[in-house]
Amino acid sequence: MLSRPRILVTNDDGFSAEGIQVLAGALEGLGELWVIAPDSEQSAVSHALTLERPLRVRSVGERRYVVNGTPTDCVTLGISSLMNGSPPDIVVSGINRGANMGVDVHYSGTVSAAFEGVILGAPAIAVSQNVGKGMSWDSAAVVARELTAWVLAHGLPKETLLNVNVPLTKPRGLKLTRLGVRRYTEGVVKQKDPRGRTIYWIGGGEPVWERIPGTDFNEVGEGWISVTPLHLDMTDTVFLEELQGAKPSWVRENDCE
Ligand code: MN
Repeated sequence: MLSRPRILVTNDDGFSAEGIQVLAGALEGLGELWVIAPDSEQSAVSHALTLERPLRVRSVGERRYVVNGTPTDCVTLGISSLMNGSPPDIVVSGINRGANMGVDVHYSGTVSAAFEGVILGAPAIAVSQNVGKGMSWDSAAVVARELTAWVLAHGLPKETLLNVNVPLTKPRGLKLTRLGVRRYTEGVVKQKDPRGRTIYWIGGGEPVWERIPGTDFNEVGEGWISVTPLHLDMTDTVFLEELQGAKPSWVRENDCE
């Protein structure tokens, strides 16, 4: 264990969201805490990076900063500038209000912020809490602290993060999982605005998941906390090798004439 590790905490729900305050509280005492988060709700912005306008940073306390940008902006700016250019010992993102499981990790600002940490050389954890009636942050706070301490002590493989999802009900325990598969139902709602023009809202339907044992959705649905290791390199190595063996006609490994 490092003597006094530097911990970067961020999220996509914004600096004032309850989840990030709970997370910062949970990690207190594990090291030197830096909280750098967006000034507004940034859920589902994925890995967006702001390039076409300047960013402004507001200091709101010792090692506490609010950025008018995306979660990825916060991590990039935090590491390259606010934290004096050296990566922290860990990036912890969350606690997100809402699950980030299965294919949703591709939309998630929470998970992308953690991946930005990985890209910039720090191990990372993303933590998300299922929401609904009777929701509590308590279990997510406990597991966030436990996993952060473990990662600080053991590290993670290069290019890998841990994606954690906490069920709505008191967890039965914790299971290691892989990403689940979601089926889209009524994802887009088509309506008329007050002036009779057609409008569309994304995210209308309830998500339906395939009940595949061992997946994050399945285990969280059965009351377990899920921990899914995610890898930055999305190369499909199995299909790559298959293609290399099959040598389809469009592969031209000799100079074209
Ligand atoms: Mn969010």
